Amino acid sequence: MTLGLLEDLKPVFQTATGKVMIYPSSGTGAWEAAIVNTLAPGDKVLMFETGQFATLWKEMAVSLGLDVQFLPSDWRHAADPAEVESILREDRSHKIKAVMVVHNETSSAVTNSIPAMRKALDRAGHPALLMVDTISSLASIDFRMDEWGVDVAVAGSQKGLMLPPGLGFNAVSEKGFAAAKSARMPKSYWDWQAMQGQNKSGFFPYTPATNLLYGLRESLQMLREEGLENVFARHIRHGEATRRAVRAWGLETVCVDPERHSSSVTAVFLPAGHNADEFRKVVLENFNMSLGGGLGKLAGKAFRIGHLGDFNDLMLAGTLSGVEMGLALAGVPHKVGGAAVALEYLTSAAQGVHGQAMLETASPAR
Ligand code: PLP
Repeated sequence: MTLGLLEDLKPVFQTATGKVMIYPSSGTGAWEAAIVNTLAPGDKVLMFETGQFATLWKEMAVSLGLDVQFLPSDWRHAADPAEVESILREDRSHKIKAVMVVHNETSSAVTNSIPAMRKALDRAGHPALLMVDTISSLASIDFRMDEWGVDVAVAGSQKGLMLPPGLGFNAVSEKGFAAAKSARMPKSYWDWQAMQGQNKSGFFPYTPATNLLYGLRESLQMLREEGLENVFARHIRHGEATRRAVRAWGLETVCVDPERHSSSVTAVFLPAGHNADEFRKVVLENFNMSLGGGLGKLAGKAFRIGHLGDFNDLMLAGTLSGVEMGLALAGVPHKVGGAAVALEYLTSAAQGVHGQAMLETASPAR
């Protein structure tokens, strides 16, 4: 079963030349695996403050002894590829060993452009590794490992793969494995070499999370049945419907760049003077629906609507209705009718009206 899974995961990462490894771990473990297998203590890396998860990955990198250049942001914008290019151009001695970016910031619902990051590296002629956290994008938002020249992709089981938490993934390019040969970070559990050695014959260096592997086999089958393109289009549709509802309520999304909205999660500010966690509590108590909380800097200020994984139009309709009823019950000022606006959009999408626009949004230019 393992040999089949390792092959079947490749199309999900859109890689033919890379290899995928599966750890019995959360996504955080897979972050650590990416770092300790490719880098050495004191290596310089470039990271971007796009939200809470980028911040946590940065903290891990610092505690593992890396020299992190962390580009600040207000959590409302994606990392700026032009700034990345100029930093890389200035790094003539190639001290920067890796550019590490979170594809979809689950906390702020901002999606970074990975092709733009690749272009920044190429234009600067810089050899740094490109490492990407795809934890809340894989199998939800188009991610093309080979085409975008990603060296290490980090993923987890509990989002687009529709499983319980407990599996962490590294997908690694040839360049990533080449870097591993000279990496000097101490490692044992995460060691790619030990994992690769055992994986060849379908085994693991330690007890795998067997039950989740059976689940993974099923979720890969579900993704194949729907087709990745359709999965991406479904998420784009749900993201768009959700933002239309948010706008109609007169509320503001955390992400301010229309090009960089996430299609797997939407983060929404409550008006000043209203606590997002109290609002979430009202929704939970009345409708048994658990909205995502604001994380880090956004705690109490924003809430998050998740629309990823095994999710369909009617589930979104229920979700947005719950939010709208909750806004009324919690006394949050808003305009009534956001859920109806979303339904109108979903209806016209079902009629094919928005089909072309959705395909364009899903194009490689993203
Ligand atoms: N990176 C991103 C983008 C995430 O959304 C998460 C968790 O939600 C993580 C990393 C950390 O993964 P885990 O909580 O599985 O360790």
